[in-house]
Amino acid sequence: MVREVEVTTAAATAMRDQVHAARRDAHRTLHQAAIRHGGTANLVAASPWCRELLASVLGPNIRTARLCRHLRGKRSPEIVFLAAHRRRVECAPCAHRAYRATIGTPEDRTCDRCRILVAAGQVEVVTWAVGPLVVSAGHCHGCRDAVRGPGVAT
Ligand SMILES: [Zn+2]
Ligand SMILES: [Zn+2]
Repeated sequence: MVREVEVTTAAATAMRDQVHAARRDAHRTLHQAAIRHGGTANLVAASPWCRELLASVLGPNIRTARLCRHLRGKRSPEIVFLAAHRRRVECAPCAHRAYRATIGTPEDRTCDRCRILVAAGQVEVVTWAVGPLVVSAGHCHGCRDAVRGPGVAT
């Protein structure tokens, strides 16, 4: 008979606390962004499209995940970011630098699902917090339901 055994050590407890802190950090970041943009952060499950994106970027395990160089081999959990068009998980400085570099470029007006270039201001942005991971995507009007999935009203 195989039984699962939970081993509680000081290191495991510390790791669990860090994961919880990183998750709270991701939720706080989302709420602050929502407030800044005059919206609200709703508690919804990540859409199937978002889960597929995560699966393609993270792969079957952490060794196959696409990560920025600062996260490779890192053992302490922290808030991390995934912009759909970048297709890799990044630390805050890398994500912030990439975000700033994208402003005003064609990528800034390209749907992350169908890759159609739309008029300025027509890309809608959606963001999820999945554990300590903040996932964001921009989509065209036609891809709205597919990207956001059920349960996201606005
Ligand atoms: Zn980095
Ligand atoms: Zn689209």
